[in-house]
Amino acid sequence: MPRSNRPRGHKPGADGGDDTDLSSLLSGWRRTEVRRDGQWHVQPVPAAQALKNYVCPGCGLQVVPGVAHIVAWRGDGVLGDGADIAARRHWHSHCWKIK
Ligand SMILES: [Zn+2]
Repeated sequence: MPRSNRPRGHKPGADGGDDTDLSSLLSGWRRTEVRRDGQWHVQPVPAAQALKNYVCPGCGLQVVPGVAHIVAWRGDGVLGDGADIAARRHWHSHCWKIK
């Protein structure tokens, strides 16, 4: 069973729960970081593309619209890149740095 029946053009399993432009996540600039808890893909979100509130997993506070921040998702998950991107989290840049 597909997890989402929304008629979108994304690859199966690659559809996320928010409106961050997934195709830009997949095709745009990103870097890979190795942290204490494994490998992560990290992509900066510029202020102009920060349009929603997110809860930062680092501090539990909101990442508010209009603030440049970081999107991160696991790079070593067993479920594949699509599932990991779907589980991506938005972090304050500072909170990611000190994670
Ligand atoms: Zn934070």
